[in-house]
Amino acid sequence: MTRLSGITPSGHVHLGNYLGAVRRWAREDADGDLYFVSDLHAMTTPYRPELLRALTREQLAVLIATGVPADRVFVQSDLTPELTSLTWVLQCVTTYGEAARMTQFKEKSTGASVRLGLLTYPTLMAADILLPGATEVPVGDDQAQHVELARTLARRFNGTYGEVFVMPKAIMPPVAARVADLSDPSRKMAKSARDSIGVLHVLDEPDLLSRKVKRAVTDNHARVEYRPAEQPAVANLLEILAACTGDGPRDAAAGLDGYAALKDAVAEAVIEELRPVRSRTLELLDDPAELDKIRAAGAVRARERGAHRLASALRLAGLG
Ligand code: ATP
Ligand code: MG
Repeated sequence: MTRLSGITPSGHVHLGNYLGAVRRWAREDADGDLYFVSDLHAMTTPYRPELLRALTREQLAVLIATGVPADRVFVQSDLTPELTSLTWVLQCVTTYGEAARMTQFKEKSTGASVRLGLLTYPTLMAADILLPGATEVPVGDDQAQHVELARTLARRFNGTYGEVFVMPKAIMPPVAARVADLSDPSRKMAKSARDSIGVLHVLDEPDLLSRKVKRAVTDNHARVEYRPAEQPAVANLLEILAACTGDGPRDAAAGLDGYAALKDAVAEAVIEELRPVRSRTLELLDDPAELDKIRAAGAVRARERGAHRLASALRLAGLG
């Protein structure tokens, strides 16, 4: 079994990414698993090249600082030749209708100058999955359809040209892993959030974290209780607190008298949880040679993982 998970450098890493994904990756103990920073995927909408490069390094550093084993991590663009070769092969077994039907594409392709990459990136995602032979891909609802496409393409290629790809499947990450935006509990905390006041970034200074938590919306019930349906904003704060302290959200509420006490507790817990990650990340970013070394080694291993599969696919497709 091989799991593959990625994070897109479309913005600064936030607490949702950390609690819902990165910290989990660091705690999982499955040898063949692979984690990657999907910088190629960040190019489907307008972006700034220098910022993309910086965010890619930042995310790689956060993964390593959190304790994701360095030998399971790589940066997607370090495999550009392999991934784009395979993407082309896969695009040639994808119909236009299949690509245009993707819900993400339909949702995001509004307005003028929609990038062609937005239409084709699910085939790149299929290459991400099929190149290393991933069998399980933990994804949220928004990406499940893309994993389904990867399965379709694997089946079609295998059936038309010869067996080479392993069948992947989408798996749902454990529930209750959604961290909401502190200024609007109906939205998930997201990198692409327009306003960062409700988004706690892993590299925010403790002071800023504290200020953001203090400005979090609550409600007018004035009681610290874990009731997600009636008090979603307070429940979100309690879930964050619980995720940091290791309690359940109901226990986390005990002894907290009023929203000021709740916010103090949340701010302190988040600051303490992120302190070592932040300081190790900053160290790594300060030592480009060390980070480059980690990155290069990751690329070599990831490339080796997929080399025979890529060679077989190209040969079966009639190339070379
Ligand atoms: P974007 O807004 O650009 O989609 P994002 O914040 O959703 O950014 P992704 O790169 O799409 O981040 O996702 C990286 C990982 O973080 C995924 O495993 C995703 O499920 C997880 N994740 C993202 N947001 C949250 C959140 N608010 N709570 C828990 N997990 C999250
Ligand atoms: Mg996302």
